Amino acid sequence: MTSDTLAERRAYLEDGLAELSCDRCGALVRAGKRSLQQTSVQWTVRAARECTALAAAHAAGRPAALVPTCPDLRDSIDRAVREGRLEVS
Ligand SMILES: [Zn+2]
Repeated sequence: MTSDTLAERRAYLEDGLAELSCDRCGALVRAGKRSLQQTSVQWTVRAARECTALAAAHAAGRPAALVPTCPDLRDSIDRAVREGRLEVS
């Protein structure tokens, strides 16, 4: 049910994203930051299934598009920025 939404989101996100995996669930996504406040995360269908936080939201009946992101992934992204693995563009 979510594959169309994910494909759409993928289509309009621009490049400049780096591959990153969630430290906790290991879901591999592509992420980028335009500013310190703004984070783009490109979920694949597979990553959305692997992520425990998103899977829990699915189980509760909430569509993936309404789930902001996995909190652990957010931490992983912030750390990647601090360590220079992800550039703020
Ligand atoms: Zn996760």
